[in-house]
Parts: sequence; C-alpha cells; structure tokens
Amino acid sequence: MESMKEMWNNVLAYLQQSNDISRVAYNVWISCIEPRSIEEDAVVVSVHTDFQRKIIREHYADRIKEAFSAVLGLPLELKIICEQEDAGAQKPAGVPSLAEEEEEYTFGNFVVGPSNKFPHAASLAVASNPSGAYNPLFIYGNSGLGKTHLLFAIRNEIRKTHPTFKMLYTKGETMTNELIEALQKGPAQIQEFRAKYRQVDVLLVDDIQFISGKTSTQEEFFHTFDTLYQAKKQIVLTSDRPPKEMAALEERLRSRFESGLLADIQPPDLETRIAIIRRKAEQIGLPIDEKDVAYIAEQLKSNIRQLEGLVKKLWAYYQIEGTMPSRLTIQSAICDVRNDDQPVPITVDRVINEVARTFNVDPEDIRSSKRSGEVSNARQIAQYIVRTVTNQPMKKIGEDFGSRDHSTVVYAIQRVEERIARDPAYKARIQDIIKNLSEK
Ligand code: ADP
Ligand code: MG
Repeated sequence: MESMKEMWNNVLAYLQQSNDISRVAYNVWISCIEPRSIEEDAVVVSVHTDFQRKIIREHYADRIKEAFSAVLGLPLELKIICEQEDAGAQKPAGVPSLAEEEEEYTFGNFVVGPSNKFPHAASLAVASNPSGAYNPLFIYGNSGLGKTHLLFAIRNEIRKTHPTFKMLYTKGETMTNELIEALQKGPAQIQEFRAKYRQVDVLLVDDIQFISGKTSTQEEFFHTFDTLYQAKKQIVLTSDRPPKEMAALEERLRSRFESGLLADIQPPDLETRIAIIRRKAEQIGLPIDEKDVAYIAEQLKSNIRQLEGLVKKLWAYYQIEGTMPSRLTIQSAICDVRNDDQPVPITVDRVINEVARTFNVDPEDIRSSKRSGEVSNARQIAQYIVRTVTNQPMKKIGEDFGSRDHSTVVYAIQRVEERIARDPAYKARIQDIIKNLSEK
C-alpha cells in the first residue's frame, strides 16, 4: 500500500478538483488537516482546534470520505482528532482534562442582564461560599438560556477557590442510566454508585427534571440528597421547569428541592441579546456591524444558544469568503439556525426507551410479546404515547410493536385513557414522560 503521505496527497488532489469546495475554503479548512493513520474501517486525521473540527465535520466530512473512497476504492469512516484535546490529555495526572466548552463556561463570559441577574447572583454566592449560602440551589428555565453555563461556571470557580474539593457534575439522564445499570448488575455496583455520588463536596446535577416519575432513581436520589445535605455538602440542580411543575416528582423530593433557593432564568431582553451577540463576536474575532447586531437581536429572541450558533456561522462565512456576509446571507443564516435548533423528532424507539427507563423494564421486552404485568403495562403506555404524540395510525403502531393486531393497540390505548381519568399519579407519570421526550 502507498504511504499515508502519498495517499493523502491524492485525496487532496481529488478535493482540489472538486467543484463544491471553493479555493478559500480549501485553504482555510482542508489544508490544516494532517493525516494520521488508518484504523480498521476508519481513517484518522487531526486538526488543531475543536472549532476546526466542528466546521469540518459539519461541512466537509462527507467530501473527505468520498475522496478517500475514490482514492482507495473502499468506503472508510472519518475520525477527526483534535490536538488541543491531546495536549489536555497530557496534563499531569490528577488534573482532570476538561472539554474546551466546559472551560469556556465561566462567570467572566456570562453576560448579565435583567433576565438572568438573579440566578447569576445566586450562582456566584454558591461558588464563593459552597454550602454556606444556599443549599440546594435550584436553577430553572427554558432550554438555551444559560443553566448549564452557570453550573459549569460554579464548578470552574470552586475549582479555583477550593482546589481540594471533590466535585461531581452529572446529568439527570446519565444518573438514571447508571442507576438502572447498577440495579441490574447487583449489590456491588449499587455500592459503587452510592460511593460515587455520596462522597463529594459539591454535587451538580443538570436537567434533574429527567428523574421525575422514575421511581427507583427518585428513591436513590432522595437518599443521596439527604446524605450530602446533612453532611453540609453543596448541591446545585438545574431543570427546565420548577419543582411544582414536575408532575410525578415525589413529594419529599419536591419539598427538598424547594427548601433552598429557587432561581428562574428568563429569555433575555433586547439589550441583553445585543450584548451577548457583541461579546460572542468579540471572543471569536468577528468584525460585525452594529446594525447587523441589532438586526439579529430583533430576529432571534428566545434562545441564547441560537445567538451563539449564528455568530459561529457568520464567522465561518467570514473565514471562507474573507468579507462579512450581506444582510441577505445573515437572513438565511438565521433561518438555518432556527432549523438546526428544532427538537429531535419523537420516534417509536425514543418512546420505548424512555418508558422502559421509567418503569425499569428492558426495552426489548416492550417490543416482545411478554405478558408479565409490568411489561404489558409499560407497553400499553408506550403505545398510548406513540399514538398521542405522533398520531400514527393504529395499524402502524401495531407493526412497530412486534406486529400486533391493531385491535390490541386500540384496547391498550383505551385502558390507558381509562386509568388516566381515575388515577392522577398515573396521569402525572405519563405527562412527565411526554415532557421529557419533547425536550431536546
Ligand atoms: P441551557 O442549559 O439553559 O439549555 P446553556 O447553558 O447550554 O443553556 O446555554 C446555551 C448557550 O448559550 C451556551 O453556549 C452558553 O454559553 C450560552 N449562554 C447562555 N447564557 C449566556 C449568557 N448570559 N452570556 C453568554 N453566553 C450565554
Ligand atoms: Mg443545559
């Protein structure tokens, strides 16, 4: 076989000829790529920054794969590694390496305005005085408004001021998955799970709403919470809704979540949006016109993640074309960003997985013809949810659930509807499942 270098030169030649990569794009995004190796069914290349990797993945990965297939005559996956991360991995042992993004989430680059002044101040108070200010701190608000940013800012700050503190960041979903796995594996794994969560100085749980209605996770988290709280350890939680709107949250957890400080984060007002766009553009080195800043701020109102995505898109354009995009291009980038941010579609698989997690049964059993009480209860609920949120025909639902007759599905849905009408707790659990599925 040819040497890696020769092969790469052929790939480059192929890409240079390709009509849909402009010369500038080639110089900016392709020429920075270094070929590394070929592993089983993937070719490994490296780039310098995470941002380069993102752009290449989004815009050029398919072309590069195509070029490799053409040169080698066989299809290969493309693996892009990033040197910044490799450098991070070489830090002395004991210093955990952080993803670039997590390090970026600091108080210093959090733009404060009326909509987030309160959660920002509360987070700062907790970071400067863990377990002394508010415990727990519960931050809630819609997606894309800065909850995760604040959570990492707290962690980054405490890491500086209390370097010996043991901190654990996790997501409600990850914690649930870990617990389910531990419960299946046995007592030793459960002990391990407990040791992991209960022996920390600061516990940060992102998107805690996910545990609502999941009986065993709630039970376990209740004890984790109490152990930490009594040992005067700091707990910070975020959620897309306040505890009172987590329909199937156990009462004892709700009262604990509400016992510290509840801080809600609102969509930013116009001035804050302008300040955020300016700040992000400055950080990334984008010379954006004030008029364009104001225009964008008028268009994208409810989500800061979108503002950030837009600035990055404009920057990529600026790098490729060498000039700032026109108003028309900005307008179309705004449409793209809105489209990129659509919720993940609700599929039958996602419904089955979420129902399985809630009732602690195996997703495969839901698809099977098993008739044990727990499994058929979960299956009926899954069918009901698929019907309610996707409005698929009964016949199709029957097929998706192991070719069941459509009358079985009709019956299942009736049963669930009847029970919803008379059992508020059951109804609450189903509401929570549907809400979790609607989140991104
Ligand atoms: P959430 O967790 O509420 O869904 P994130 O914390 O992930 O939202 O925020 C989405 C993006 O917007 C992140 O990249 C974050 O850095 C950015 N962001 C949110 N709020 C601010 C702010 N006040 N100042 C600067 N950037 C922000
Ligand atoms: Mg978040």
